[in-house]
Amino acid sequence: MLVETILATKGSEVATAEPVETVSQAVTRMEGNGIGALVIVDKAGAPVGILSERDIARGVSRYGAGLPDTPIASLMTRNLVTCRPEDSAADIMPIMTDRRIRHVPVLREGRLAGIVSIGDVVKVRLGEIEQEADQLRAYITGT
Ligand code: AMP
Repeated sequence: MLVETILATKGSEVATAEPVETVSQAVTRMEGNGIGALVIVDKAGAPVGILSERDIARGVSRYGAGLPDTPIASLMTRNLVTCRPEDSAADIMPIMTDRRIRHVPVLREGRLAGIVSIGDVVKVRLGEIEQEADQLRAYITGT
């Protein structure tokens, strides 16, 4: 299944923040949206990084009690791994497992067009594999 098909079901909305915002603001936005990562964008809306729960957990040992007021820029990952709407779930799954990332923003002509999580990709791949198994079973048994 293509990423654009996944987005057609789940929607293209992406929760974002700017690098100058604080960790406290980021946590409030994540909690409000029930999500584990924010795509970090510049003033023009172009993606410049990502901040996930894991970055915030690491920040506890680095910044201690000062963490809530620390700017997102100090914790975010800047080398963003992205995908395109025309990529397939099967293309993205090995990238997520190899790089150990659970979120991949989708870019269409350089603009943020959605985000896929490992949960989205695993769900789609399981469905595809089950369908293939059913087809093989039907072929072998001639039903
Ligand atoms: P996650 O698995 O999304 O909680 O993120 C684990 C680590 O990978 C954190 O340090 C994130 O900032 C980083 N990360 C998550 N998604 C991406 C991505 N698409 N590109 C680059 N780094 C990422």
